[in-house]
Amino acid sequence: MPIVALRDVSKTYPARGRNEKEVRAIQSVDLDIEAGEIYGIIGYSGAGKSTLVRLVNALERATSGSIQVNGTEITTLPERELRKLRLGIGMIFQQFNLFNSKTVWKNIEYPLEVAGVPVAERNARISDLLHFVGLADKAGNYPDQLSGGQKQRVGIARALATSPSILLADEATSALDPETTLEVLALLKRVNEEFGTTIIVITHEMDVIKTIAHKVAVMEQGRVIETGTVFDVFSDP
Ligand code: ADP
Ligand code: ADP
Repeated sequence: MPIVALRDVSKTYPARGRNEKEVRAIQSVDLDIEAGEIYGIIGYSGAGKSTLVRLVNALERATSGSIQVNGTEITTLPERELRKLRLGIGMIFQQFNLFNSKTVWKNIEYPLEVAGVPVAERNARISDLLHFVGLADKAGNYPDQLSGGQKQRVGIARALATSPSILLADEATSALDPETTLEVLALLKRVNEEFGTTIIVITHEMDVIKTIAHKVAVMEQGRVIETGTVFDVFSDP
């Protein structure tokens, strides 16, 4: 059974003003993502990639269709249950979204506090994560004392804190130079291999998908126009 399954999913944003039209951001999308896959979603800006991700972690409600995550139909879940669901889904972002007034340690601790994890367990977990992402010596630093690649490694550690089964990466390397991009992608590969985390990588960069994804969906104007292995989708016929 897929860990993420979308059936005939559409999302229409209402018109923002009197002279604007509603936006059909996602139209009739079917998608199956198997547990343990690194699944790439590629498309130009405005194709609907971020909307798709926000539907999977229920930051947005679908207008119609079915979305199952970890076997649970999420489109009909009450908000209280959705909060639980989100603890099982990690997210990393283009602009890292770290708390700049918190140390690296405190950034990683935040989701553990929210989840109510006891302090001793928290400390052990944070220490493990810092070693895993290679930042054990940066625990007391603030984000603005770190390079972009280091910031994203903190973002990854924070996203993994509650041991999510799914990690959503929304343009997570788009603010990084090519060399740092490869480092971060290598780290994501290790996450996938060592913890079996399903990783969904949203990007407009073909090279990112080619480097890391097992499967890929190509989005255009709110629709998935092609899916398959990276080899199938990107090799010329
Ligand atoms: P992508 O991530 O591929 O750039 P998005 O999902 O961000 O695509 O956007 C898809 C379409 O939905 C775009 O036309 C965008 O302007 C529109 N859109 C995204 N978020 C909103 C919103 N909150 N309200 C209205 N329109 C939105
Ligand atoms: P509070 O959460 O009440 O603000 P602290 O800031 O002292 O308390 O941190 C809570 C826990 O996190 C403590 O057990 C502390 O040892 C640990 N901790 C905080 N920062 C670091 C760090 N840079 N390196 C190692 N452990 C840290």
